[in-house]
Amino acid sequence: MIIVPEKVIPNLIDRATSYNAVEAVFGAMSRGDAYNFPVIREDIGYADALYGFKSGFDKAGLSLGLKSGGYWPGNEAKGLTNHQSSIFLFNADTGQVKAIVGGNYLTAVRTAAASSVSIQHLARKDSKVLGMIGAGHQSAFQMRSAVEQRDFVKVIGWNYHPEMLSRLADVADELGLPFEAVSLDELGAQADVIISITSSFAPILMAAQVKAGTHIACMGTDTKGKQEVESALIAKATVFTDEIAQSITIGECQHAIAEGLITDGQISEIGAVINGDHAGRTSDDEITLFDGTGVGLQDLAVATAAVELAIASGDAIEIDV
Ligand code: NAD
Repeated sequence: MIIVPEKVIPNLIDRATSYNAVEAVFGAMSRGDAYNFPVIREDIGYADALYGFKSGFDKAGLSLGLKSGGYWPGNEAKGLTNHQSSIFLFNADTGQVKAIVGGNYLTAVRTAAASSVSIQHLARKDSKVLGMIGAGHQSAFQMRSAVEQRDFVKVIGWNYHPEMLSRLADVADELGLPFEAVSLDELGAQADVIISITSSFAPILMAAQVKAGTHIACMGTDTKGKQEVESALIAKATVFTDEIAQSITIGECQHAIAEGLITDGQISEIGAVINGDHAGRTSDDEITLFDGTGVGLQDLAVATAAVELAIASGDAIEIDV
């Protein structure tokens, strides 16, 4: 069995590897070659922790396994990240455990890769302004990956806690792009691509604020009750997702579905666009929206890549079990 410790992973996996792994598994999901098993998420009644599993099997990439982890709100006081996860991979032919891989950094890069895949396949080619809603841990990963998909000339941002906006300014500076903190009205009026990555439980971005032709990647909503955009915006947009079952239950579309504004038949898999089975954006005026709920197969895809890279670099720890 191989162990790939968390600390070696940032130096092993680059954005291109992560992007390619996530794009491939979204395509496999849409072809029916890969599927996610039901998600388990439990309040364990100890340390205020939420704990669970996301798992699946990709027959094309031969990734079988699970990501186990959750949220421990007391961790920050101990100098640890609140979100903790580990990925377990199994041999699809024998069921033997193949690898244990640190899942914290991989979660950030696979989430950024998902919005980037949506930008690459759905945003207007002439997109110039990137709008960021959210300035937490994930936002930096999102921005670095997104700017590789189009020739952006400027980043603008809004956050519920304005004191956190310096993170977006710093990352934009590192990327050589000007950054401006703006109101939500200004953000919607200027941005060609919008990424929302917050832990909000109420709509932030309203339908009337978004201009025609915008692509929006809603990445923060991964739990029942969370919401980042007004349901009317979902109803107005052409909607794509990683997995429809998650989108309508724990993703951004849960509210528009519950309010009867859309049906699940109006949501398309991003994998269908990747595979050429769906045209994706069909006009420059269309608003496209990607509901990135975060599926276990994304974790397995990047963990499989990390194991291969760790073996090649000598960073993999091998033990007999
Ligand atoms: P974080 O705690 O570092 O940052 C939280 C962000 O949400 C900050 O921008 C904060 O200002 C904002 N926020 C907090 N309370 C808010 C409120 N009431 N209204 C509006 N905004 C508020 O978190 P993070 O690690 O950056 O993760 C952000 C979100 O992304 C979380 O909801 C997390 O669960 C989700 N997430 C999704 C995926 C996926 O695959 N879709 C993967 C990882 C994380």
